[in-house]
Amino acid sequence: VKTQGRHGYCFYAPEMSQRTAASQRIENVLRHALAHGELALHYQPKVDARLGHIVGAEALLRLQVDGKDLFVPDQFIPVAEDTGLIVSIGTWVLREACQQARRWQRDGRAIPVSVNVSPLQFQYAGFYERLDSILNETGLDPNLLELELTERTMMTGGDGTIRLLRRIRQRGVRLSLDDFGTGYSSLSYLKHFPVDALKIDRAFVRDITQDAETAAITSAIIAMARSLNKDVVAEGVETEVQSTFLREAGCSQMQGFLFGAPMPAAALEQRLVAQTA
Ligand code: C2E
Ligand code: CA
Ligand code: CA
Ligand code: CA
Repeated sequence: VKTQGRHGYCFYAPEMSQRTAASQRIENVLRHALAHGELALHYQPKVDARLGHIVGAEALLRLQVDGKDLFVPDQFIPVAEDTGLIVSIGTWVLREACQQARRWQRDGRAIPVSVNVSPLQFQYAGFYERLDSILNETGLDPNLLELELTERTMMTGGDGTIRLLRRIRQRGVRLSLDDFGTGYSSLSYLKHFPVDALKIDRAFVRDITQDAETAAITSAIIAMARSLNKDVVAEGVETEVQSTFLREAGCSQMQGFLFGAPMPAAALEQRLVAQTA
């Protein structure tokens, strides 16, 4: 290794090995957490844009010890994808979220729960069968499950993607196109893929009050999605000004710190109890 040239490689090597060490450490932590039941899901409320009450929740993966994040998803999800661990982690997430949604259904507080699906997980042979067996095993009403897929996920699904999406929908599960507007071909995806809803990416929401062009584009996206009969969810809503703009532009649901950060299931349950009381 030392005999390599002075330029380029030597400069590059330490950075490479550092990155490998970091992702190696994350991989070890993930494997340990998966084996020892240390993964957790938090749930972020989705609220009705006009009435403000909770109409759903997104399950978000956490890797915590004593309530403190060891790593955040933007750090560990890419490692899970690179190592293929996302397939078993994704299965765990799906089962856990369905079990939770089933408990809420049983307690008379049924709300749809949304689960993020990674490209590799979606692409993996047997995804549908696994989903089907988790639904059977938990007894969850499939209408109470929604899968959030990104453009990237749909892109990697190959020729069978549309057929797979149709099968999932026929099973009664809702489909949502996540991070809408960040990809390359968002509009054509909306036309070609059978989804029920789209989520406007946080990057748009952040800038609507800052930048007139972003505001115009966001309004146009919402109008177009609605004319195609899709539900529109805005994510990352942090201020009243954003919320008002999005509601007036025609968003049906909102999600963001303004309405609640991701929280443990018990905390979301308290919110559900409070709103039905
Ligand atoms: P995402 O699916 O776009 O999830 C939304 C992210 O925005 C979450 O970050 C959430 O905590 C954060 N967020 C929500 N409201 C606000 C807000 O008002 N302001 C700001 N600044 N942020 C807000 P989180 O939980 O760190 O997750 C990051 C990403 O990791 C997710 O982005 C998703 O792509 C991925 N991820 C999380 N859990 C899972 C999972 O179970 N499976 C898979 N495949 N990916 C996951
Ligand atoms: Ca999501
Ligand atoms: Ca998103
Ligand atoms: Ca995102």
